[in-house]
Amino acid sequence: MRFMITMIMSLIAFSSFSLAAQQSEITSVRCWTSPTNIRVVVDLTTEVSYEVKESLSPSEILITIKNTRSTNQDLLANNAAIKQISVFQKDTNMSCVKIGLVKKTTFNVFLLKKYLSKPDRLVIDINIPDVKKALSVSQKEIELIKKRSKIVVIDAGHGGEDPGAIGPTGLQEKDVVLNIARNLANYFNQRHDVKAFLTRDGDYFIPLGERIKLCKHYDGDIFISIHANASPKEHVRGSSVYVLSTEGADNKAAQLVAQRENMADLIGGIAKIENNVVASILVDLSQTQAINESLGLAKGTLDSMVSFCHTYSLGIGRAGFAVLKSIDVPSILVETAFISNSEEEKLLATDEFQESMSKAIYAATLKYLEIPSSIVSLVSPKGYKYHVVKKGETLWSISAFYDKSPDEIKGLNADIPPSDAVFVGQELIIP
Ligand SMILES: [Zn+2]
Repeated sequence: MRFMITMIMSLIAFSSFSLAAQQSEITSVRCWTSPTNIRVVVDLTTEVSYEVKESLSPSEILITIKNTRSTNQDLLANNAAIKQISVFQKDTNMSCVKIGLVKKTTFNVFLLKKYLSKPDRLVIDINIPDVKKALSVSQKEIELIKKRSKIVVIDAGHGGEDPGAIGPTGLQEKDVVLNIARNLANYFNQRHDVKAFLTRDGDYFIPLGERIKLCKHYDGDIFISIHANASPKEHVRGSSVYVLSTEGADNKAAQLVAQRENMADLIGGIAKIENNVVASILVDLSQTQAINESLGLAKGTLDSMVSFCHTYSLGIGRAGFAVLKSIDVPSILVETAFISNSEEEKLLATDEFQESMSKAIYAATLKYLEIPSSIVSLVSPKGYKYHVVKKGETLWSISAFYDKSPDEIKGLNADIPPSDAVFVGQELIIP
C-alpha cells in the first residue's frame, strides 16, 4: 500500500509557438499513497484556472486546466483508489487530467502556489474508499491501552511532497527520520508498559495540524517529533533538542530552525493555509506547565544523544514550532544531526547511527517516565549536572562555583546568548 509512483513526463519545447509565454505547461505528475488517501500532484509552469467534473459510470474525475499544454499520456496508478490517470491535450488551449476511480469516493482539488524549489501545483486528494475506520485505533482501544501503558506519539517530520532538508549527496530528511521513528516505535512496542504510535508510517505528507490532532487522538503522554537539521554553512554540525517557546525564539539559530520546520505545510501542501496552525500561533496558558516539563525531557534526550551517538551538543533551544503548539503534554522536537554537513550526512545514512539515535531517545524517554530499564543506566555516563539559575547569579559566578570555564558551560548550552546573559529559572547543563 505504501509506495510511491513517480511519473515524470518529458517537457516538450514549443519555442516557435506564439502563446508559449502565457501558457502553462504540465511538466510532471506524481502520486503519493497514505493509509487514508491518494494524493495526485500535477506540476505546472505557471498558475492556472481549472474546472472539475465528476462522472459516475464509469467513476471518473475530469479536471480541465485552461490555457495549458501537455503531452498525452496514460499512467497506470494501480492503487486502492485509482485505476488510471490520463493526461491529454483537449485543444490548443486546454489540457485535461482524467482520473479513473476504483469506485466512487470523496475527493478535494486545490492549487498550491510556487514555493521555494516547488513549482505551481494542482493537487487532487482522493480518499481511499472504506478504509478510514479499518485503520484508525478506536477511542475504546486507546482507553484500554492507557490502563496498562504510557503512550508515546512519535512524529517523523516531513514526508511525501515535502522532503525536508536534503544532504550534499541527496539524502532526504524525510527518509532518515522515518527510519529512526520506526526503530524507536519498535523498541517501545516490545514493552508492556509503553505503547508507541507513529503519526506517519510511510512516505506521504501530513499537515502539521493533523500531527497535533493525532497526538490528541492517541491520548499521548509524550510527543516526540524527529528531524535532521540543515545550515547553509557546510561545517555546522551537532545535535540539539527544541521545546516550544511562549515568547518567540530564544536565539537566532532556534528561530531559523523553527522557520524551516514550519514551512512544511507550504511545501507539502494543504488546501487552506489560513486554517493552518502556522497562521495563528497562540499558546494556551495551560501549556506553560507542559513546556517546563518538556525542558526536562529535552535535556535528558540531548544528554542521551551525546552519550549514545557521540554527536556534539548544540544545547536546548526554544522557539515557536507549529508542530508543538496546542500539545499540553511534554513535547520535544529533536534535531538529530546536520544532514547538510557531509560527515553527518554519511552518519545519518547508516543503520548503526539511526539505531543509536533511536536507542538514545528511547532510553531518555524511559528515564523521564521513571520506568526502570537496563538501557536507562547507559544515559549520561559523562555525569552532567543541571543548574537552575537563581537571582543574582551570572554565568561567571556559576562557572566559578562548578570550577568550569564559562566557555565550557556555553558549549553545552546553545541558549546562552553572546552577551553571556542568563536568566532566573534558566536550566543549564553543567559539564
Ligand atoms: Zn525537519
